Amino acid sequence: MINQIYKEGKRQQLEVEGRLVSNIDEQRVNGLTVKIDRDLCVGFGDCIDLAETVFEFDEENIAVIKEEIDIKVFDEESFLEACRACPVDAITVLDGNGEQVAP
Ligand code: SF4
Repeated sequence: MINQIYKEGKRQQLEVEGRLVSNIDEQRVNGLTVKIDRDLCVGFGDCIDLAETVFEFDEENIAVIKEEIDIKVFDEESFLEACRACPVDAITVLDGNGEQVAP
């Protein structure tokens, strides 16, 4: 049996026969759709080092988008560079047309 579960707003979890097979946070940031695969994130923090105004660690040491982002200091190119720097491609970004712009 397949279960699609949404919790904590935008966390999408997919269970197949009781086993978690997909665990993704999705959030809109300044018109971009940002998805973080919580199973892939290994918590080295490269994205946070490069975009500390947007990313932070949660209590499980997994990168998440901050609750509040100061859009006045948000720079899209720097942000996309930070997303592309993820060593395990845990961060996927789509633009407003649904085109993938990172990684
Ligand atoms: S760079 Fe990738 S692996 Fe490292 S903390 Fe960020 S999302 Fe996780």
